[in-house]
Amino acid sequence: MSEKPGRVWLVDLDGVVWLSGQPLPGATEAVGRLRSAGRRVLFVTNNAGPTIDALLGRLGRAGIDAAAGDLVTAAMAAAGLVQAGEKVFMIGEGGLEEALLAAGAVLCGPEEASTVVVGWDSNFDFRTIASASSAIRLGARFVATNEDPTHPSPFGILPGTGSLVAAIATAAHAEPVVAGKPHEALVTLVQARLDPGEAIEAVVGDRPSTDGSLAKALSVPFGLVVSDATKLEGVAGDAAYAFGPGTLMDVVCEAIG
Ligand SMILES: [Mg+2]
Repeated sequence: MSEKPGRVWLVDLDGVVWLSGQPLPGATEAVGRLRSAGRRVLFVTNNAGPTIDALLGRLGRAGIDAAAGDLVTAAMAAAGLVQAGEKVFMIGEGGLEEALLAAGAVLCGPEEASTVVVGWDSNFDFRTIASASSAIRLGARFVATNEDPTHPSPFGILPGTGSLVAAIATAAHAEPVVAGKPHEALVTLVQARLDPGEAIEAVVGDRPSTDGSLAKALSVPFGLVVSDATKLEGVAGDAAYAFGPGTLMDVVCEAIG
């Protein structure tokens, strides 16, 4: 086992570390094993809903110590596409609001907005589609936190942000700039988190379309963890995963022993 410093693992949260905040078996121990093998773990999620404190609280309850700097979210990536002072109509929850305000965005209604940012919003309804699509047709920039079609929950698979974004895109006759995994805004954000001398060693996740594609974009191996989301996507014969499929612990053991 190498103790070489500077190796960073990008580990997805939903379907890998937990399911709706309930830790998955062995995930906490797997993160511990990575860290004792000298790896730094960045938790990279396309879930733009929870605040940083909410995510750190869930990690803490799972027995995983983490700081804000260990988190990379699609909300942060979307906020990276917004300039300070930009007027933004936000569709989303606390995590997106927190990230946009941290970036200096001015949150406003659809009539004044120069940018519409769409993330996970459990209150999304017909009026949301109408106001967002109208602002976009009138010239506002269209940014989406992510395009995951579904979201895992204890009640089964729920519509994900991608489903909400698709409704607005259809009504607006426009395509969004997508910020989260595997897109450029998130890649840029991850690379900015690396300290000098650090390099990404692997990406682990349960979605080949986002996590696997992120690994490909970064030219590092992909570890595939299997969840209900994976089964929905299907694991294509040509899916390029180097470790797994299995649990996070299976992937970690296969990769570093
Ligand atoms: Mg996931």
